[in-house]
This record gives sequence, C-alpha cells and structure tokens, in this order.
Amino acid sequence: MSAARPDAVSAWIGLGANLGDARAALRAAVASMDALADTRVLQVSSLWCSAPVDAQGPDYLNAVAHLQTGLPALALLHALQAIETGAGRQRPWRNAPRTLDLDVLLYGAERHGTPALTVPHPRLAERAFVLLPLAELAPHLVTPEQRAAVAGQRIERVADAPAWLGGSD
Ligand code: AMP
Repeated sequence: MSAARPDAVSAWIGLGANLGDARAALRAAVASMDALADTRVLQVSSLWCSAPVDAQGPDYLNAVAHLQTGLPALALLHALQAIETGAGRQRPWRNAPRTLDLDVLLYGAERHGTPALTVPHPRLAERAFVLLPLAELAPHLVTPEQRAAVAGQRIERVADAPAWLGGSD
C-alpha cells in the first residue's frame, strides 16, 4: 500500500465482472488499486450479484471501492484501464461480457465532461448495482429518490465485506 498525499481526493470506483472467476477478479482489482501510486483503498462494499443491463450473458458480480488518491482524475482512469487490461479485458463490442470493468463514479467534487472521462459517471443514477453498494459506504451520496428509481432492478447482496476479499470463498 502506498501512502496517499495529504491533499488526496476521495474517489469512488465501480467494479464489475461477469466472466471467469469474477469474485477473484474483483478481489485482485482491489489489491491492484491499493498498490497504485499515491493511492489507497479506504473502504470496499459488500459483494453484489446483478442482472446484466442492456446486455446478454451471465449475472455480474459488483462492488464499489472508496479510494483516497493523489492521482489526477484522468491518470486514475488510465491506471484503472491498465488494471482492466491486465485482467484480460477485451472490448469486442459495446457492453460485451467482461472479465473486469472499473468505472470512476465520483472523483471528489470534480466534474469532467469529455468522452474519455465523464464524472460523475453518466449512468451512476440509473444502476442499482452502483447505487446500492455506493449507498452502503456513503449513504449521503445516494438520495431516496435515486434508490426508488432502481428498485425494480434484480440485484442481491451475496457476501459481506471484508469477508469476500479474503482468500477462500
Ligand atoms: P466501458 O466499456 O464501461 O469500460 O467504457 C470505457 C470507456 O468509457 C472508455 O473509453 C473511457 O474513456 C470512457 N469513460 C468515460 N467516462 C468514464 C468513467 N467515469 N469511468 C470509466 N470510463 C469512462
């Protein structure tokens, strides 16, 4: 674990995987994020299982991690993309099943509006698999109206944190 700078920013990362050993992929991703320069993982949500949205394929495993990081937002995104690639991520088509998906949900109070980086994440409020784990860690970031809007989406909590980050299932 590397120490984050005192002026570090709170970043909230959405994790998802629905191919291979998804739980192991998410666990490894948490370790990889904690090993990034100027970054540490402060909190990780429970592990959730959700139906794919706008896509076919197996159910997803999802979680949200709270980082403290001194990396600028775009550098953080590039570091997350390198972790995805290292996990064998390929992008054969939009919303294809994936070994690992890492999204920057929030980066402090910053707003970015480019195709390469849009923050807050444009689909944050539409997805139960983001809102429910985020609300576990930071209830003040999710409104009752947002929770109500995703109440119809199929999702269940499958393991407590930090137990799911342990070595055995
Ligand atoms: P995905 O298929 O979800 O991995 O989408 C990745 C693409 O979305 C990449 O081209 C990213 O540059 C872009 N992108 C834009 N905003 C974000 C964000 N907040 N988090 C992750 N990827 C983003």
